Amino acid sequence: MQQFAALPAEPVQIPAGLDADSPQAVIAWALESFPGRIALACSFGGPTGMAALDMVMEQDSSTPVCYLDTGLLFEQTLELVERAKARYGISPIPIRPALTLAEQGRAFGPQLWATDPDKCCALRKVEPMRKFLSQYDAWMTGLRRDQAGTRADLKVVERDTIFGGIKISPFAGWDERMVWAYVRAHDVPYNSLHDEGFPTLGCTPCTRRVEEGEHARAGRWAGFDKIECGLHARAPGNERVGL
Ligand code: SF4
Repeated sequence: MQQFAALPAEPVQIPAGLDADSPQAVIAWALESFPGRIALACSFGGPTGMAALDMVMEQDSSTPVCYLDTGLLFEQTLELVERAKARYGISPIPIRPALTLAEQGRAFGPQLWATDPDKCCALRKVEPMRKFLSQYDAWMTGLRRDQAGTRADLKVVERDTIFGGIKISPFAGWDERMVWAYVRAHDVPYNSLHDEGFPTLGCTPCTRRVEEGEHARAGRWAGFDKIECGLHARAPGNERVGL
């Protein structure tokens, strides 16, 4: 299995006091610790990723920014990519699956997301991301502990048990209210569907509007016992290895 290009041989030194309360401080440490060897993953489907993008661009606008272009994104998500390009003067890197939708349909059936979403996510998200991250030692995400039970024990810095490198989540300790306060205060661009009942957005077949009182992630893979695409799920039997 292909892993990150070169895991740091020496232990990663985490400064005392570095905590998710200050995403800017975590980002500054991350950029300094992995110069030229770190990327930001932004889904363009959630406000935390956009706040992360804004903070990273503020500190180093040459940081590579990537997103998973599964071929099934909402047009509003693609439109947000264009707005981010204009706002920050960047060219987000689309990470695309090896198979086109037609090829996947011929190999596994026309709507794999409806029959085996884990397999579909593996083909269209996890494996393409694995290939992309093989160029880097570390990546930054917009994950927060309050987003889902599967993320409740998220560490700010983790040894990534899925991809094998270092995963940094500067917003681990923030909540939804804090993120939106930052987005509003800094006029950060965000996905217009958030104003229409979609707290988070993934692929069109696997995202629905959330009703009042439902959990924010209730609209993802509705009807399946699945709340993660596999990028952030722990490998079976593994604990989160915080650094
Ligand atoms: S979110 Fe749905 S459509 Fe997108 S890769 Fe996963 S299963 Fe497939």
